[in-house]
Amino acid sequence: MTIARNIEEINNKRIKVALKANRNPDEVLLMAVTKLHTAAEINEAVSAGITDIGENKVQELLSKYDDVLPVKWHLIGHLQTNKVKSIIDKVVMIHSVDSVHIASEIDKRAKQNDLVMDVLIQINSAMETTKFGIESDETSDLIREISEKFENIRIRGIMCIPPYEVNPEDAREYFKEAKENFEKLKSKKFNDRVSMDYLSMGMSNDFEVAIEEGSNIVRVGTSIFGNRDYR
Ligand SMILES: *Cc1c(COP(=O)(O)O)cnc(C)c1O
Repeated sequence: MTIARNIEEINNKRIKVALKANRNPDEVLLMAVTKLHTAAEINEAVSAGITDIGENKVQELLSKYDDVLPVKWHLIGHLQTNKVKSIIDKVVMIHSVDSVHIASEIDKRAKQNDLVMDVLIQINSAMETTKFGIESDETSDLIREISEKFENIRIRGIMCIPPYEVNPEDAREYFKEAKENFEKLKSKKFNDRVSMDYLSMGMSNDFEVAIEEGSNIVRVGTSIFGNRDYR
């Protein structure tokens, strides 16, 4: 039962760090990132109290979907337009929207399924060429355009993936910048298809720093399930 024990440990840290930062721990969601882990492992996590899980790839999500206990699925990896239709009725939120093009397809498929999809705008903090996402000063324009064009999408916040730092302290500046951007967007007047509720940032290595800097969704894989076996 090490998965359950890992979750307990991370939850204890989440609560402790949030309280120390004068935040309500209930407002910081621990999402389990399940890529390259089996349905059985995911079910262990769900049984241990995990309510939300994040998958990176559509194909992998679909391959596990029927074998996993009831839980909220999130798509956190880059999404191709031709894959949207197969997950539109399976996920509660898509964290990786970074263009009008992908939003347009999400809107179309959401409409066909008679639903409204929650999305986050993915920001590439350091503009690394290896990652998807938009520059933070483009966020406002993209949010405006998506919210004006598409009826079946709700923009719920932003997701940020800073460059990997061995020392989590080195990620702090990126988290601070994302939080500032988030607050700025929150204070802007968009239409009612925008509700800036979520700031998704922080992974196994740096989630405590991310919580200190204002994250309200941390996406943790390795610290829950152990190392991933990339083969
Ligand atoms: C894999 C992944 C995570 C989790 O990373 P860990 O270091 O294993 O906690 C979080 N977010 C995204 C977008 C990922 O791809």
